[in-house]
Formats: sequence, C-alpha cells, structure tokens
Amino acid sequence: FRGNSNAARDIAHHLHPYTNFKKHEATGPLTIVRGRGVYVMDDDGKEYIEGMAGLWSAALGFSNERLATVAYEQMKQLPFYHAFNQRSHEPAINLAEKLKAMAPVPMSKVFFANSGSEANDTVVKMVWYVNNALGRPHKKKIISRIKGYHGVTVAAASLTGLPNNHRSFDLPIANILHTSCPHYYRFGKDGETEEQFATRCAEELEQLILKEGGAEHVAAMICEPVMGAGGVIVPPKGYYEKIQAVCRKYDMLFIADEVICGFGRTGNVWGCQTLNIQPDILTCAKALSASFLPISAVMVNDKVYQALATESDKIGTWGHGFTYSGHPVAAAVALETQKIYDEIDLFGHAKRLSPVFQKHVASFADHPLVGEAMSVGMVGALEIVADKKTKAPFDPVAVGAGNRVYNHAVQHGLFIRNMGDRVAICPPLIINEAELADLFGRLRKAFDETLAD
Ligand code: PLP
Repeated sequence: FRGNSNAARDIAHHLHPYTNFKKHEATGPLTIVRGRGVYVMDDDGKEYIEGMAGLWSAALGFSNERLATVAYEQMKQLPFYHAFNQRSHEPAINLAEKLKAMAPVPMSKVFFANSGSEANDTVVKMVWYVNNALGRPHKKKIISRIKGYHGVTVAAASLTGLPNNHRSFDLPIANILHTSCPHYYRFGKDGETEEQFATRCAEELEQLILKEGGAEHVAAMICEPVMGAGGVIVPPKGYYEKIQAVCRKYDMLFIADEVICGFGRTGNVWGCQTLNIQPDILTCAKALSASFLPISAVMVNDKVYQALATESDKIGTWGHGFTYSGHPVAAAVALETQKIYDEIDLFGHAKRLSPVFQKHVASFADHPLVGEAMSVGMVGALEIVADKKTKAPFDPVAVGAGNRVYNHAVQHGLFIRNMGDRVAICPPLIINEAELADLFGRLRKAFDETLAD
C-alpha cells in the first residue's frame, strides 16, 4: 500500500474505470502528477517512461506548450458552441476539412464525438439508419471479431469481443456477432500456412454471414486494422483482402476502427494504408488530439452520407449528436495537433524509427519466457509462455507472469501494459532512439527478474 494522502483520498472517493475495487481498496492507486516528453512523474517524485503513451494515445508525449496555448486562446474566444440544427463553428469546420484531406480513401463528411466508444456507437446507429433509408429494414447485423476492442458504451462494448466487456453486463446486444480472431500464433492449426489461415478466417466469416441470413440480414463488419487491447494482433498478409472480398460479396459496409492505429502508429498515417483496407466508414480518436483533450471522429463516404441525408430528410432529422460533438476547444487542439504532426513530420519520424522499435521487440524472441514477439510500426507485443515449443501458457492465476513483468517494469520506472500474459509496448511517437533503448533495457530487466522469480 502506497499510503500517502492521495492514495487514501482516492480510495475513499474515486470509483475507477477498469479496476478490481477490492484490490484497489487494499493497494491504492499510483497517482501521476506531471508529464514531460515521454516521461510521467508520480506524487512521490518517481519518473516513468510511458511505454504505452498513456492508453495507446499520447503521440506527442506529456508536455506541449503550443497545445496549451491554443486551448487557452480558443477558450477566450469561444469556449463552447454546438453544431446542432445547422449551427457551426470554425474549429469543427477546419478539423473536418483537415481530416477529409488526410483520409486513406475519399470520404464525404466527418461527424464528431468525444471518445472512441461514442464514435463506434454512432457507427452502429448509422448502419441501422442507413439500411432503413435504403429500404432494407432486416439488414441490421454487424460483425466484429473475437478479441476486437471497440469501446465500452452499450453498442461499442457489444462490438468488443472480449469476455470482460460482456460478463455481468448482459452484453452483447442483439444484432452484434463475432467472427474469428486473426491471430496466427494462437489460432493457426498445425501445418497451416499463414495464407491458409487467412483463407480459413475469411471462410469462417462467410459461414457466419450465411448462418445469420446472408446479404439480407448482415449489414457491416468492423475491424481494428491491428487489434490493440486484444493483444496487438497483426493479421497475416492477405487477410484483409480476403475479408473485404467477402464483405463486398454480401453488400456489407466495411468499418475501420482507427482509434489506436490512426495517426502514424502502424508506420503510415492510417492502419488502413498499412493493412490495405478500403473502409466505407472510419472512426478515430486518441492521437487525433494527441489525447490533450477528448475528441473523436467518424468519417463516412459518399454512399453512406447520401443514405443518411435521404433518411434524415424523410423522417425530419438525424436524431443523434452529443452536446460536445466537435467541441470548439477540443477541435482547435486537435487541429493544432495535426499541424504539429505535419511540421515535425511525426509520421515520417515514426516510419523511420519503426525498424529500430521492431528490432528491439524482435530481440525478445530469444528470451526464455517469450513465445511470440510481434510488432508493426511503433506498436508491439510479447507473449509470455510456459513452454516455447508447445506454446502452453502459464497458469494465469497461480503464476500471473504478465502481472509480474508489469510490476517489475514499474519498479524500473517503466509503464507497459499486460493483457494477461501478453505485454504491449506503444510509446509516444515522439520517442527517440536513446529513449527507445532505455525503454527496452528496462523491459528486459523486468523479463529477467520475472524469470528469476
Ligand atoms: N476502439 C479502439 C480500437 C480502442 O483501442 C479504444 C480504446 O482503447 C476504443 C475504441 C474506445 O475508445 P474510448 O476509450 O475513447 O471510448
């Protein structure tokens, strides 16, 4: 128990996201008080490398004067306005224009929300609304994937394919289905090549579509180009070509959830570019504003926009929107974030540093605890196994190897994230080579100490 006054007050008053409350009562939080570059500092003055960019998101790290100034200036000029009923404001217009110019495929319009979850929830409603507009009221089923992560609001949590997000919440809701996870290391069969595995994933998708009523009932598929919270899973080559061909065959919309992948993380601006995806709808958040303020976006192509427009005209309105859709301060900060990315060539920097990052990740493949070392761009994962040959995992409860690595890393002043026994690394994209070497040096100590435990 850390036992300082913040910890005691936190336990007394603060109900946390994603927490075992009983455990929290016993141990208290680690309270972070300030940030500088890729480092954050706790209330005891200890510094940590933020090897997860917070929550896969703080691409510019944890200090930036320009973003602070832009927020201040926007607050002075127009701290709040909304975009309901044909009102607008310049920050939202500017940001929508910028995002469209950056999009991986031609997009028609941009809708704003505050979080990745809200963006994906919006998409579920869009898909249903669009199919009503097109006179296809039965075409409402949306397919996501086992281990996919799309957020926590009711519809977004339903899209999410992780048991923790469903258990005890009475989820998923109707019309949301999950198909296979494209993780070759875990789900590839003996003797199956990566290509055969990708083909099987596409076949399993098609079987699910047919079982659920085919083109008449299945409306869309949503994918993170690279799964994040499910364990940083990069699908085998050719996977998305096969999956998208199936979706086209059944006249389904393809939705890319770029909440983690967007803005340089996978080595290109969009994960769609790295993985060869042509989405009809794209959602983004997190690094959209470098996480300095909450904002997310949904981009739709012209086909989707025309259907939305038709239906809104028929029934009178698009009955969906948030008080803070396109909040002017968040939008101004997001636009300035994008200007900074351009000026410092952040995406170019991330692309140039990717081979260095990937070499560090790959160097763990020889570690006795590591079964798989996987990375793309500037995001990676190490899977801890009990037996490298059979890929058998450790007993998650008795051993808790991922938790041990996490705890040792914290002792060495490093935040990574363990999803069970899969350890993710996703540093701020501004990180430099020396800081990367420092990060992975600390991580190696954490793995070695876990081995010695
Ligand atoms: N989609 C993806 C791919 C995510 O990783 C996340 C969050 O981590 C979300 C959606 C949900 O975003 P938020 O936590 O902002 O609601």
